Amino acid sequence: MSKVSLVRVENYNNIEEKITEAIDLLGGINNFVKKDAKVFIKLNLIGPFGKDTGITTRPDVLESVIKLVKTQTDDITIGDNPAAKDVSFVLKKNGCFDLIEKYNLKLIDGKDEVIINNPHPHIYSNFEVSRDYIECDTLINLPKIKCHTLTYMTCAEKNFFGLIYGLKKASWHSKATNPLEFGEALNDLYGAFLHAMKDKIILNIADGVIGLDGDGPSTGGTPKAAKAIIASTDAVSVDTIACKLVKLDLNRIFVTNIAKERGYGEGDNIELLGNSLDDFDDVKFDGPRDTLSSIGLRIIRHKFIRNFILEHPKIDHNKCIKCGECAKICPAKTMKIEKGKFPHLRSTDCIRCWCCAEVCPQNAISKTKRPLIGKIFL
Ligand code: SF4
Ligand code: SF4
Repeated sequence: MSKVSLVRVENYNNIEEKITEAIDLLGGINNFVKKDAKVFIKLNLIGPFGKDTGITTRPDVLESVIKLVKTQTDDITIGDNPAAKDVSFVLKKNGCFDLIEKYNLKLIDGKDEVIINNPHPHIYSNFEVSRDYIECDTLINLPKIKCHTLTYMTCAEKNFFGLIYGLKKASWHSKATNPLEFGEALNDLYGAFLHAMKDKIILNIADGVIGLDGDGPSTGGTPKAAKAIIASTDAVSVDTIACKLVKLDLNRIFVTNIAKERGYGEGDNIELLGNSLDDFDDVKFDGPRDTLSSIGLRIIRHKFIRNFILEHPKIDHNKCIKCGECAKICPAKTMKIEKGKFPHLRSTDCIRCWCCAEVCPQNAISKTKRPLIGKIFL
């Protein structure tokens, strides 16, 4: 049985007190950070977005965690692997950068890599990940609670996709081109990570005080209050509670469900500490548009079928600033841009990974309407 603490938080004014409460419910910070331990704090820095967007780890959340960790050790490193822009640029945009000097932290850019191995993979066994992220005594994971166009929801487990450096993340989308295969690959990575960290401590602290509803995990989503901090050593349990809390469909969080099937976390066998889910009757997310049931996910395994029944990206020329980030990340190389022109794509080659929408700073990429035949079948 895994222990999960759930604390209701109305706003960020007293976030330090509330995060401390969530950790104290699990036995206090010294349960997770030993004296003079080496700590890595893994942020959620998908791109250069402000602290109020619900997209990235906020500075007040990070500072609250740093203060707690500082009671045990000064050896603290922070980082993440944004797909677009470098980590310093992203930290400056979301307001976390000043904390580095204030608390004498180390910042890692993630370029130094090491191979980790999943001893029981379903598809992929080896993953190149950023070395410093796993060569620590304790890793503290700080995800946001967000809806996700491709995976329905993203929170603690999927935040570990950020162990993979920068644009290399996009290449995993071209290896695992349909959502179920991508879910298996993410779990192969998570299994490899758990294996690499087997003698170490992982603590997840998810922030949903303001989360992200709709077509997340980036500018396509809408900031929305889930009014919660959720903490546990088990990422799969955190994600299960987050899904219940925002009243989304547990059957559709396929990444989490694959993890449960593989025994990577408890998921259902949870001792909930602090608030109960009944204390969140006023919290409800709508989820991404046009999501897929488990039958739908099976139907779209083949690219040929996907082209007939699924929506594809469309670009709003009134919002686009022709920055080219969408073309740079596109793993299928189907989104292209010429100097001074708007990007364009060949939709039949699109693998619907939505990386382009994820990195677009302008929320200029949305979904076309689902074709009628797709609406009927899915
Ligand atoms: S156009 Fe967008 S959704 Fe399609 S493959 Fe490229 S990045 Fe992925
Ligand atoms: S669609 Fe977005 S990412 Fe692509 S060029 Fe326009 S603004 Fe940049």
